[in-house]
This record gives sequence, structure tokens and C-alpha cells, in this order.
Amino acid sequence: MDQNRQPLDAVVIGAGQAGLAAGYHLARTRLRFEVLEGGPRMGDIWRRRWDSLRLFTPAQHDGLPGLPFPAARNTFPGKDEFAAYLESYAARFGLPVRTGIRVTGVTPADAGFAVETTAGTVRARNVIVATGANALPRLPDAAAGLDASIRQLHSSQYRGPADIPDGDVLVVGAGTSGSEIALELAASHRVLLAGRPTPHIPDPLLRYAGGAYWRFIHNVLTLRTPVGCKVAAGFHQRGAPLIRISAKDLDRAGVVRVPRMTGTAGGQPVFDGGTPADGGSPAVVRTVIWATGYRPDLAWIDGLKLAPSGWPETQRGAVPGIPGLYFVGMPFQYALTSGLIGGVDRDAAYVVKQIERRMPEPSVVAPVLQLGDGDGEDRGGSEAEHSGGGHSGSERGHGGHA
Ligand SMILES: Cc1cc2nc3c(=O)[nH]c(=O)nc-3n(C[C@H](O)[C@H](O)[C@H](O)COP(=O)(O)OP(=O)(O)OC[C@H]3O[C@@H](n4cnc5c(N)ncnc54)[C@H](O)[C@@H]3O)c2cc1C
Repeated sequence: MDQNRQPLDAVVIGAGQAGLAAGYHLARTRLRFEVLEGGPRMGDIWRRRWDSLRLFTPAQHDGLPGLPFPAARNTFPGKDEFAAYLESYAARFGLPVRTGIRVTGVTPADAGFAVETTAGTVRARNVIVATGANALPRLPDAAAGLDASIRQLHSSQYRGPADIPDGDVLVVGAGTSGSEIALELAASHRVLLAGRPTPHIPDPLLRYAGGAYWRFIHNVLTLRTPVGCKVAAGFHQRGAPLIRISAKDLDRAGVVRVPRMTGTAGGQPVFDGGTPADGGSPAVVRTVIWATGYRPDLAWIDGLKLAPSGWPETQRGAVPGIPGLYFVGMPFQYALTSGLIGGVDRDAAYVVKQIERRMPEPSVVAPVLQLGDGDGEDRGGSEAEHSGGGHSGSERGHGGHA
């Protein structure tokens, strides 16, 4: 990497949906930027997820700005299709993504940042961190107390039923991942699912009033409304609502629902309110799958103060006290949809607008895309705004894909 050249105006770290949405908006400015992706190929995060995974958001909410997801409304794309979409998205807009370059450190320096990478140091006036919410598996302390004979894996390591040995399986965590994995395994294993199920959004509500529901979570559940602030306060503790599958589906499939796992006794799991919740017989399991979520890994950013959630406090993505450092793709960065595919556009546009404002001298390069008229504020709600495909340089970015 050329270490002596002029600093870039911006470096985006990570080429998932958040980094690519930021790239899309940067490409409509005169700023010089690059997107650095640590993986060999865009979308590998999705390819590595379990084999049967389909998106829980319907296709109309699975597109990034300027390019609707190419599938019929109310269908649920597979994870590999979404990975391919990310690659085609970067190609479609000619985004300057450099794959196979992992960022190992970010240090404020010379009115900007020194971005240390596996290919050398890049200097940039602004940095957008878009490395995702799923960097490190979150495992409870109880994991250490389980008998060595019990096979343990995190949901990020689960691929499919064929890899799970015979015998009872305990899935810990009844959010979307845990519920989907439990349902799939119930066809071949006896499955216990521990935890309080998150509320289920009934299919008819999504099918017939999906646009209204999306507008509610995108435009009402934001940091600008009292109800949004209330939801945001508990967001890191509570999983997202169940879509497509319900507690009834789990019951029908024979999944045994047990309370929260609180610890272990004699190497076996113990649940809230005592030991066994399964008809009186102790829970002796062969496999435990931890569907207990993730935490970010941001220790490599110099001077960044992290809250107990593992995230920094930001003002809609801007880090107070470190001018030029921004995030896109944080859970509830601005709205409940901030961490979702269909919700990331608005935050990306807003952050890029902030960067443009602090970079008064226009850069010497022409924008990758034609300049648009969007200002990045609170777009993405109405169905009408988001119909139609393709991109034209002068159209406004797509926010909600309702
Ligand atoms: C199992 C699962 C299913 C989901 N299903 C849906 C769904 O159906 N609909 C929906 O809207 N949302 C869904 N989500 C939520 C969210 O859309 C995904 O988590 C999504 O991957 C987040 O995108 P991102 O761009 O923020 O981060 P990521 O997709 O994690 O992308 C981050 C990128 O940054 C790269 N990177 C990380 N660290 C570095 C570094 N130091 N240097 C360079 N590159 C780096 C990574 O390689 C990666 O490519 C799901 C999440 C999970 C876990």
C-alpha cells in the first residue's frame, strides 16, 4: 500500500451492507475514499452462516440504496443470494472496495487518522467503522461449567443437523437464530429451547400491513421519539421480534421450551426456577448450542470509550471527542432498523453528509456516481418512494424499501 500518498478523505472499514451503503453515498460526493474489507470476498459473513438460513426480512426490505433486491415482494432470499447481491451491488456502482485488507488499528494523527492494515498504513481524514455487530460470539459464564462430554457450539458455528451428534440438544436463546435452529433440529433430534421467546410478528400483519409496520419501526422507533428511546434503552438485552416462525410452530415441531438457563450443576444445565422444566426429568443433553448473540470487537480503535454493551456512545454515528470518526451499522444507531439491511441507508447518508460538512475543500476527483440531491435526513418510509429498480445518479437514495 502506498504510504506516502495524500491522505484519503475517508476510509470505510468493512464491506458488508453498512460499509457498502456508506460507499454508495460517498461515491455521490467529491470525496476520495476507499472501502477496506478484511475478508477475501464480500458477503463471506453471510456465506458462513448456517446452510438453511433465509433472511427474516422480506425482499422489499433487503435492498441497499439505489438497487432493490432482485426478488418478488414478500419472498425471503437465501443467505447466499444476499451475499451475491452485496458483490453485485459494489460492482454495479463501481465502489472502490479493496478485499483481503484487514484493519488492525486506527489512531488519530495529523488532523485525521493512521489506519493500520495488513497491507500497510493508510492515512485518512475521516474513518467510517462498518465492521458489524457480529464480530465475537457472546457466551455466558455457564459455558465454562458444562461437563466436558457436552459438545458446545455458538450459533455462528452451526451449519446444519447433519453436524450435530445424536442425543438431546439444548439451544440457549429463544431469539430468531435460536428459534430457527431449534425448529430445524427438531426434525432429527429432541430439542430443548431455553429462554423467553421474543414477541412474534404475525405473518398476516407483515403480509397485509408490512409497509405500515416498517414505517413504524423505521420512522417512529427512533432516538427522536420517547417510545423509540424507551425501546432503544432495552435493545441490547432483548432480541428482535420473531418473524416467520412463532412459539406455536416450535410447539408443533415438538421443541421443548424451558426457562432461561441460569447456570450449571454437576456439569448439567440449570434453568430459572430450578433444574428441569421438562416433565420432571433432568436435562441431560449431548449438545448445547449458544444462540446468545454477539458483541462487537472495537478494541483496535485508539481512544474509543466503550459502553458496557461493547459499543461507543455516538451522536447518530459520530463519535464525540474524536472528530472524523464515525460508525454505520450499529444496533439502534438511530432507529430500530439501523442494524437491518433495509434501514442502514439513512444512517449511512447522514454520516456521509456530516463528513462532507467537515471537508469544505472539494476533492480533486470526480465522484464515482453523479451527485444527487439527497441530504441523508430521515428518508425511507413510503412505498411510493421506493418502487422501481436500478439507479440513476440524480435519484434520491432508497431508505426503507418498504
Ligand atoms: C444470523 C443472522 C441473520 C440475520 N438476518 C437478517 C435479515 O434477515 N434481515 C436483516 O435486515 N438483518 C439481518 N441480520 C442483521 C444484520 O443485517 C446482519 O448482521 C448484517 O450482517 C450486518 O451488516 P454489517 O454490514 O453491519 O456487518 P457485517 O455483515 O458483519 O459486515 C462487516 C464487514 O466488515 C468486515 N470487517 C470486520 N472487521 C474488519 C476489519 N478489522 N478490517 C476490515 N474489514 C473488517 C467483515 O469481514 C465484514 O465483511 C441478521 C444477522 C444474523 C446474525
